[in-house]
Amino acid sequence: RMFNELQELKGNIRVYCRIRPFLPGQVAKQTAVEYIGENGEVAVVNPSKQGKDRRRNFKFNKVFGPDSTQAEVYSDTQPLIRSVLDGYSVCIFAYGQTGSGKTYTMTGPNGASEEDWGVNYRALNDLFKISQSRGGSFNYEIQSTVQTNGLAVPDASMHPVTSTSDVLELMDIGLRNRAVGATSMNERSSRSHSVVSIHVRGKDLHSGAALHGNLHLVDLAGSERVDRSEATGDRLREAQHINRSLSALGDVIFALAQKNSHVPYRNSKLTQLLQSSLGGQAKTLMFVQLNPDVISYSETISTLKFAERVS
Ligand code: ADP
Ligand code: MG
Repeated sequence: RMFNELQELKGNIRVYCRIRPFLPGQVAKQTAVEYIGENGEVAVVNPSKQGKDRRRNFKFNKVFGPDSTQAEVYSDTQPLIRSVLDGYSVCIFAYGQTGSGKTYTMTGPNGASEEDWGVNYRALNDLFKISQSRGGSFNYEIQSTVQTNGLAVPDASMHPVTSTSDVLELMDIGLRNRAVGATSMNERSSRSHSVVSIHVRGKDLHSGAALHGNLHLVDLAGSERVDRSEATGDRLREAQHINRSLSALGDVIFALAQKNSHVPYRNSKLTQLLQSSLGGQAKTLMFVQLNPDVISYSETISTLKFAERVS
């Protein structure tokens, strides 16, 4: 019932929270985030307070605790993928500080086995599987492009794709382009948005009617604030650029959730790129990723405040 009420309030925006587990070898075991469970709530514990101010609860459409599996997370995402083939636009984001599990949720861990596959792989597999199963009544053409913010793939044009591995090939090009320079892959990816876009053109073989669906899978740049005393020059400008684009994204989703007549799409390249898939009939899912470690407390709070504003 709660979920339906929320859906009515917010239209087509849903927000899921995922708490990643402590990693093997992570020293501090003190947790600042508690998974409450079924009803979509998390509690955040302020390490420097006592009494009733110590805990604060946040509510989402759904919360995935540290023990959740990739398959469980995807099972609540899958209906959106089907609707792409029905002619809807869908945007799926992962938001959170670096190290909170965005890439794990969207792509999976490095060298993932099938069981560890993230949303991207599962979504693409379903997209191709469902499109083929509808072959008797629909003719689908599927195209894809992969981009990273500020470091777009030189050829960002659409490529016809017929399988998940076709898209993975494009993703590898994107990853190589993200890894330019001396910086490590992880450092690089934490400072850029990675966007996999799928465009679907379908034709109903009986009526001849055309449909048009879009899917954007977005692994956002890390949301952490960069310390001005540590970052200078290009590094600082880059950080400011990321912060601006993330707050522009927050502003757009906030305006949509409020049903404002003006939606400020033009304030960043990211929101311009995604404009046709945010708002209107489009369906938006944001994964809010949390690192449970008490050391991350203040970033966790700012992540949750971002989520609270858009949900
Ligand atoms: P981000 O993309 O937000 O910077 P990552 O996805 O790279 O974060 O996650 C940081 C580390 O935590 C990686 O080693 C990743 O494999 C691990 N990790 C993240 N989420 C989970 C999870 N749900 N279960 C197990 N390990 C995880
Ligand atoms: Mg990442």
